[in-house]
Amino acid sequence: MARVYNFSAGPAALPEAVLQKAAKEMLDYEGTGMSVMEMSHRSAAFGDIIQGAEASLRKLMAIPGNYKVLFLQGGASTQFAMVPLNLMGGTGKADYVNTGNWSKKAMAQARRYGAVHVVASSEDKTFSYIPKLDAGTFDPEAGYFHITTNNTIYGTHITKLPDTGTVPLVADMSSNILGEAYDVNRFGIIYAGAQKNMGPSGLTVVIIREDLIGGAMDSTPIMLDYKTHADAGSLYNTPPCYGIYMAKLVFEWVLDLGGVAAMERINREKAGLLYDFLDNSSMFSATVSGDDRSIMNVPFITGSDDLNAKFIKEAAAQGLVTLKGHRSVGGMRASIYNAMPREGVVRLVNFMKTFEKENT
Ligand SMILES: *Cc1c(COP(=O)(O)O)cnc(C)c1O
Repeated sequence: MARVYNFSAGPAALPEAVLQKAAKEMLDYEGTGMSVMEMSHRSAAFGDIIQGAEASLRKLMAIPGNYKVLFLQGGASTQFAMVPLNLMGGTGKADYVNTGNWSKKAMAQARRYGAVHVVASSEDKTFSYIPKLDAGTFDPEAGYFHITTNNTIYGTHITKLPDTGTVPLVADMSSNILGEAYDVNRFGIIYAGAQKNMGPSGLTVVIIREDLIGGAMDSTPIMLDYKTHADAGSLYNTPPCYGIYMAKLVFEWVLDLGGVAAMERINREKAGLLYDFLDNSSMFSATVSGDDRSIMNVPFITGSDDLNAKFIKEAAAQGLVTLKGHRSVGGMRASIYNAMPREGVVRLVNFMKTFEKENT
């Protein structure tokens, strides 16, 4: 069996130990004689799985009792609609920070339901930095204030959370949830598609403060009302059962490693190896500088499209795959989420050194 080091931005690599456990339990989950995929979502066995997943996530993120954890479908992109449908009804206004493609898509969706105020944007420089935020420009009447904590495509990261007072802070945390520690109390809603740091695609995790549930606009589809899923314990309809099971295994894997703080230390070390090399290389360079750098997605370039293409091709031959940058940015991008072992980053850096020598 030849496993590669997969630097995909998403769906992304999963911990090998988790895949092995799932493989072992594929045909007969804990003596039930069936796969989790074949099991009623109302069975006792699945009840234990979804409750176990929630308990582990609560432990990992120290989620306070006044927050609900929802296991939904539709990806982060459906949250782009659910958030305004549920939170914009009061004043019809919301604040957004525009830090990339995902923020833009979130804003485009929110504009269908109310007035979007762009507090700040980094679009002028292809989203290569995080714009400075001035609390004086925040709308105190906004139904919520939306940020993207980690910008998957551009490799930027919000280091200092804005202080939004009584306006609930809503975060798209798709690409760095469980990759670094956050105080959940700072947020009204955290949402994330699972396929970067938590499991397979098809599962979306929402962590929502209870007082933000129940205010959906009248026209909100029942499936897009947080109350529907909160009241039903995420079992209003058939949830993404297998995704929830896989996420549970990933949560347990992070707990075994020491939790999110331990994971963050490992991630910082991994990212440091790569950034250190990039900052000292005469061929390769990072496209983001300073504090705004993501520790999950690291875009980099050589300065020549031909060399970029050659690098991506030769790296793949070494088992270092999916290094091509997003089509809107070009160059390369190494996504080094929780499941990327340190050894994968070391191998990447060593190959970059060799490539640099051979091509200068
Ligand atoms: C991947 C990603 C999305 C899109 O997620 P889907 O689950 O495909 O809808 C949204 N936001 C961020 C920050 C992402 O990384």
